Amino acid sequence: MNLAYRRALWVFHLNTGSCNGCDIEILACLTPRYDVERFGIKLVASPRHADVLLVTGPVVRGMDERARRIYEQMPGPKAVIVVGTCGASGGVFHHSYNLVGPVDKVLPVDVYVPGCPPRPEAVIQGVVRCWAKLERAAAKGRAAEGVG
Ligand code: SF4
Repeated sequence: MNLAYRRALWVFHLNTGSCNGCDIEILACLTPRYDVERFGIKLVASPRHADVLLVTGPVVRGMDERARRIYEQMPGPKAVIVVGTCGASGGVFHHSYNLVGPVDKVLPVDVYVPGCPPRPEAVIQGVVRCWAKLERAAAKGRAAEGVG
């Protein structure tokens, strides 16, 4: 856990077709009750600044290309979290004519946070798991360079 808190973690939120339920739970993480910014977890406005891509909803047609482009704009090491059942499996939208599919049809997913919608505590736990993964990747990079 110590490793996971070595730096701030910047998150870009992308809605690829959710009903907004998961998105509201993500916003709740920023309210004074949970206040994730005190741990250094911050929502950013550009994928170019983000370590983590946090995706809500299944991927509707037209959003697959955009999601790929946004992911490519993020610098590495980077991670993807899917928040909610819709992004993981299609959920209640599974048979929709307008669906490309779950998020892993389009992006490499690192962490799934199940639920419809998941509670803020679960979302925060997912972000921390991503954080640990990124710290491991960064430590590997430092070791390869003979630093730290
Ligand atoms: S998982 Fe539930 S709350 Fe989240 S986008 Fe799907 S239907 Fe909405």
